[in-house]
Amino acid sequence: MDVWNESCAACGATGSPLTKLSLGKDFFGRSYDRLSPLSDQNQKWYCAPCSMHKNLQRDVRDIRAEFDKLRAGHGSELSRGDEFRRASLRLQEIMTVLSATHQPSPFLSGHDVTLLMERLNTLTMPV
Ligand SMILES: [Zn+2]
Repeated sequence: MDVWNESCAACGATGSPLTKLSLGKDFFGRSYDRLSPLSDQNQKWYCAPCSMHKNLQRDVRDIRAEFDKLRAGHGSELSRGDEFRRASLRLQEIMTVLSATHQPSPFLSGHDVTLLMERLNTLTMPV
């Protein structure tokens, strides 16, 4: 679904096709409707690069939340080995995307992602 008469909610770009981001599932495959109905109702329009970055931000946020739970000793998606590996790979992927784009992401700083990767690396990978 594209719209032309709005401006991007993140960078203010106009005149390019904008997408209303549907949150759908989170990084761990859980539905957002259940977790955060409010944020899903308040959808904004984003241009293509910004919606891509918004997705990256969402993944980083989900992974960080699960990391915090794991470290606090609560049940966490990251306590499963395959999810832990998938999350580590995803963070590497995100770093690659961030360092390949010329403009800084409107939502994410590479420093935050690096920090989260380092924190993940301090944990023993669950089996
Ligand atoms: Zn934008």
